[in-house]
Amino acid sequence: MVTCPGCALLCDDIEVIVDNNRIKETRNTCRRGAARMKGCINRLIPGIAQKPADIESSIKEAARIIRNARSPMLFGLDNSTCEAQVMGIQLARKINAIMDDTSSFCQGLLIEKILLKKFRTCSLEDIRNKADVLVYWGSDAQDSQPRHMSRFSYFPRGESRQRGYEEDRLAIAIDVRESNTAKICKGHFYRIPLKGDREFIFALIAALSGKVPAYEPKKMLELAGIFKKAEFGAIFVGLGLTYSIKEDFDIFIALSNILSNFNIMPMVGHYNMRGFNEALFKETGFVNRIKFGENAVHDDKYAITEALKNKIPDAMIVVGSDPLTSLPRTLIPHILSIPVIYIDPCVTLTSKIAAVTIPCSASGVESGGTAVRMDGKVIGLTKILESDYITDEEIMKRLLEAV
Ligand code: SF4
Repeated sequence: MVTCPGCALLCDDIEVIVDNNRIKETRNTCRRGAARMKGCINRLIPGIAQKPADIESSIKEAARIIRNARSPMLFGLDNSTCEAQVMGIQLARKINAIMDDTSSFCQGLLIEKILLKKFRTCSLEDIRNKADVLVYWGSDAQDSQPRHMSRFSYFPRGESRQRGYEEDRLAIAIDVRESNTAKICKGHFYRIPLKGDREFIFALIAALSGKVPAYEPKKMLELAGIFKKAEFGAIFVGLGLTYSIKEDFDIFIALSNILSNFNIMPMVGHYNMRGFNEALFKETGFVNRIKFGENAVHDDKYAITEALKNKIPDAMIVVGSDPLTSLPRTLIPHILSIPVIYIDPCVTLTSKIAAVTIPCSASGVESGGTAVRMDGKVIGLTKILESDYITDEEIMKRLLEAV
């Protein structure tokens, strides 16, 4: 059995059939996981100024760029092993870099609150064994973490839930659209208007407190009744909810404090985003948006979006991420104006504009290590194929020595 690095569910029940050092077939993966494990279509090659180079020259040129930068930024590491993340943090510290990752515009806020113990949480195994009410809020697990419902929440039998979804479990979806997950939660889909989560939370708090809510009173009282009766509930918080209430997150903490029979679980996409958040939190007390210097400073101006808007970085190291695809177009001109050092197994839009490209092995397939599942459990990754590519951990170690 091996682990799939396709998302932060880190399914560790995967079988692979290897033929001639290639993955011919995967068993138990979803389509997303199978595609991830079979590897990228176009492999990245070492390069300087978009011309092929050898790996040593690429690392040397990257070190030169970093040494000349006054305000370098290291971005990414959500698709790297925990070991590579620790090395990346050491590199960022040594070069006094700004450090951020996709959690900055994704689930970082929620994970930070979980690490600060603002929420009650549990393991995915606890959910499989005990949970009777499952709430997908702003999360389309069926598309983003496709085996979530079948491995851990709605469909499986569990120690205290032997009759599974047929009789023992109830799934609820709260979302702005009827997602594939919502379609499974038959009869328990609560549609909310765009950015309507705040009003929904207040109405739910009112209903749970025995008051008649101003918003959709019949529906909210019905939902409050289900929540009150739950023996072991779980709220799976998707990006839709986190994003919608990011300015006012305490209202969700207030709701969770009333729901003493519920656990809060972040729904994470990138396979080791939580690992990065935990490693940086351990080092600095914050999960992202850091500037290293004499002390590590946390500030929203060090979020990648703000930093690029204000043209703060004068060089960027991007590891296992594709900011040119994921960031708003208005921020791209500054990335194009500075040297980018790109470390990844695959060709991406960002690799095509990079000053230096350094290919690495595909973690979880060509190299092993560990990663942190969305619930905080550390899971091992296996090296399945032989590979001449060095790991991103090794690349950052060499950069650390060279700068
Ligand atoms: S749910 Fe995620 S970890 Fe599991 S097989 Fe699919 S992509 Fe891989």
